Amino acid sequence: MIGLPLLLAGLIAGQGQALEIAYPSEPGLTGVTVQWSGRSVPFVQTDDHWATTVGVDLDSRAGAHAVDVTFRYADGHMRVERQPVEVRSEKYPTTELTVEDRYVELSAEDQARANREGEETNAIYEKMTPERYWTASFQVPVEGANDGRNFGHRRVFNGQPRAPHSGADLRAKSGTPVHAANRGRVVLAKDLFYSGNAVFIDHGMGLYTSYLHLSEIKVNVGDWVERGQLLGLSGATGRVTGPHLHWGVRILDARVDPFSLVRIGAP
Ligand SMILES: [Zn+2]
Repeated sequence: MIGLPLLLAGLIAGQGQALEIAYPSEPGLTGVTVQWSGRSVPFVQTDDHWATTVGVDLDSRAGAHAVDVTFRYADGHMRVERQPVEVRSEKYPTTELTVEDRYVELSAEDQARANREGEETNAIYEKMTPERYWTASFQVPVEGANDGRNFGHRRVFNGQPRAPHSGADLRAKSGTPVHAANRGRVVLAKDLFYSGNAVFIDHGMGLYTSYLHLSEIKVNVGDWVERGQLLGLSGATGRVTGPHLHWGVRILDARVDPFSLVRIGAP
C-alpha cells in the first residue's frame, strides 16, 4: 500500500491572487492534476514535490471552495482527494480617471476594432500550452519598480464605470526598458486600441504576462524570450493618463495581481 500524501490543510488566497499548490513526492506517484475553473491542470515534478500555479480570479466568490486533486500511480491506481481552498475577500478601491474622449465614447470603427481585439486576446488566454516553460521565479519587468499597487481597482473613466483594473501599473517614464518577467514565447506583439503597443508572453500551463502602452516593441510573435530579456520600451500608447507600464498576469484566464505571482518565488 502506498502512503497517502498529506493534503495541505489550508490553501488560502485572496481574490485576484496567484496560488501555488504543492504536494510532497512519494514513491510510485507518476502524476498529479487538479480540476481548476473547469479544466484539468497538471502538476510539474521537481526534486521533492509536485507543484502547479493557479489563479483566483479578481471576481471569484469569497469564502470556502474545494477542488478535486487526482493522484496517479505507477501500478495503475489513482485516487481523488477534495482539497479545500479558502478565498479571502479583498477590498479594491474605486478610482476616477480622465482620458481622451475617444477611449470612452467610441466611434463605430473603434468599437468594432476593440471588439475584434477583445476576441483575439480572449482566444489567447483560453489556450493552455501543456508544458511549463519557466523554472525560475517571476520578476518585475521594470528595474526598481516596486509600485503598481492599483491592481483590482474599480475604475470610472470620464465619469463612466468600466472594467476593473486587471494588472499593475508600474511607474516608468517613456523609453524605460521593459523586460520579460520570465521565460516564454511571444504570442502577441502589436498595437491594440485600448492597450496601445502590447506584448503578450505565453509561459505555458495557461500562464500569460502582458506588457502594455509601450512606445516601442522589440520582439516578434513566435520569439522565445528568456527571463529578463528586453521586450520593448515603456510609453503612453492606448488608453492612458500618462506614461507607465501596465503589467498583467492571467493564469487559466483568471486575472491576478502580478506581484502575488512574484511573491510565490521559484517553483
Ligand atoms: Zn494599467
